[in-house]
Order: sequence, then structure tokens, then C-alpha cells
Amino acid sequence: MAVVPEEMTCLLKEKENEGYTLLTRPVPVPGPADVIIKVDRVSICGSDINLWKWNDVARVIATVPFIPGHEATGEVVAVGSGVTEVKLGQRVAVENHYYCGTCYQCKEGRGDICQRLSQYGHGRGTDQGGCCQYSCVPARFCYVWRTMQWRISVWLGRTCWCWAVDLWDWAREVYGVDVDPERLSLALQMGATEVINGAKENITSVVMNLSNKNGVGRIVEASGAASLLNQSFSWLRKGGQMVLIGLPKEPLHVENVLTDVVFKSLTLKTVHGRRIFHTWEECERLLADGLVNVGPVVSHRLPMTQYLHAFNLLMTGAACKIILDPQH
Ligand SMILES: [Zn+2]
Ligand SMILES: [Zn+2]
Repeated sequence: MAVVPEEMTCLLKEKENEGYTLLTRPVPVPGPADVIIKVDRVSICGSDINLWKWNDVARVIATVPFIPGHEATGEVVAVGSGVTEVKLGQRVAVENHYYCGTCYQCKEGRGDICQRLSQYGHGRGTDQGGCCQYSCVPARFCYVWRTMQWRISVWLGRTCWCWAVDLWDWAREVYGVDVDPERLSLALQMGATEVINGAKENITSVVMNLSNKNGVGRIVEASGAASLLNQSFSWLRKGGQMVLIGLPKEPLHVENVLTDVVFKSLTLKTVHGRRIFHTWEECERLLADGLVNVGPVVSHRLPMTQYLHAFNLLMTGAACKIILDPQH
């Protein structure tokens, strides 16, 4: 069993300015309902880049001070006196949406959209996050891996590009849209049937040609680029669905509301978080059964001490998904 030291290395967002600081802090002491996780891996999400920059999005989603990192996994090395659901030595991942359990949405089983949501890695209701060697997490927000190798448990973040998706249960055709040729070739590797370079091609005419002028059944918008999103309603076919995952920083505007929205009888679905813990179980099953291979999306694995390099790679577009190791 791992021996828990008194001090640890962590990243900290101390003030409302750009960047993080690498420093030494005491290892937290668990309360009766908490566990201490020795963090093996923490991955960097798109929202972490907003937090790093401390832009307008960060001001909405976070409160300083906090340890960043909300996609973390590791081994339980200490448990509080009242913890029964998690055991020492188990591999867990952190559900970063800390729901209250008592509001209207929580009672409906929708902790992911809790009215009093706290958030791990965002300074909301906790200063804890995954960019540290030992993290204190309430046991009820730990997902215990059942079948998987623990190393893949960092994967419930957002995708890196905008997908125009034609999905009926399992997608027959998937069109990946981006402006970066490397990401487009990655999309092909990951199973996209077609890719469209928005910087070189007219997305509207390509989508219409590919779909026999019908438009696509579902768009999963993960780029957050307002200009792209504004025109993408015209790519949907009648009865289609728009799924918003990306975080637009500007207002949204649809030019032809009647023909592109109302008369299409569309469904708008916005995604904040995941079903707790149903989505975890589904993802674990997909990965365990080999139906999804997330490996190609990981462009870099780095020691956490190289965090400056990691964020530089991400902000210059030279990386896709980066996984940090806080123990080195
Ligand atoms: Zn709630
Ligand atoms: Zn994330």
C-alpha cells in the first residue's frame, strides 16, 4: 500500500491572470466522507485552456484559487472514517460535477445539471483538482473502474473538432469538419467517412452533395466557433438534431430562422457534463469492448512539471490531447 507523504507537487491558479504556478503544498487530509487519490494521470481539456488564459469563459466557469485539472484518475490511498463505497487500492476516476443531491434536477436524477453544482478543477465549491500528486475527493464522486485498465480512465473530455454527423443509432456516415489538415487526417483514422476542410472548401455545398441535398441528421458542434455554428443550421435536414458541446465566446446568430430552424422541426440539445454514472458505464463498456479506440487522439504524454511546454503545444495547435503525469 502506498505511503502518503506530507507534501506534494501541484499546479495552482492563484489569481485572475494568465498561467498556473507549480508549487509544493501539504497533502490534504480527508474528511469523513472523502478519499485521497494518488493521481496517476490528468488530461488537459479545452476548458483548461480557457482557465489558463483566464478569458471571459473562465470568468463564468471558475473561481480562484484552485488546483486545475478535472479529468483525473488514480489509486485510492486513504479513505475517510465514514467511507463505505470506495476501498483502499481501487482505481478510480473523478466525476468532476459535484452535485448537491437535493435540488429539483438532482431529485430527477440529473446531477449533471444540478442548480447548486460545484466543480472539481474549477474552484467551484472545492479548491481541489487533478493537477497534483494527491487529491482529496468526496467518495461519492469517484467512479470505480470495473473492467478496464486504469490508464484509459481519463477519457470523458470533449472532442477536439467539429463533427457534422449523420447518426441513426450507429452512424452510417460521419463527416469531420475542421480547418487543420492534421486533425482531419486524425478524424479519418478515428472512423470519419469523409472530412471537410473549412478553410479550403465550401462546407455547405460539400455537405449538401454528400447527403444527396437532404442535409445531415445530426450535427455535434464541438468547436465553439460562433461563425461556424451560425451557418451550420443550414446543413441540417428536416427533423434533424443540433447538439452543442463547444463553448462559443460570441453571440449566436442564425440568418434564415424560418427555413433553417423553425420549418425544419429541429431538436436542439445542449450538453453540460454527463449522466452520472450512466455515461461512465457506457464509455467503459465501449472502451472495454474495443468499439472505440481513443489512442490516436493522444498526441503527447508529459510529466506534469512540463506543463508550460504542454500548454504552449496546445495553444499553438501543435497538440491534440495531452496527458500529464503528476508523479514526475
Ligand atoms: Zn442539485
Ligand atoms: Zn473536460
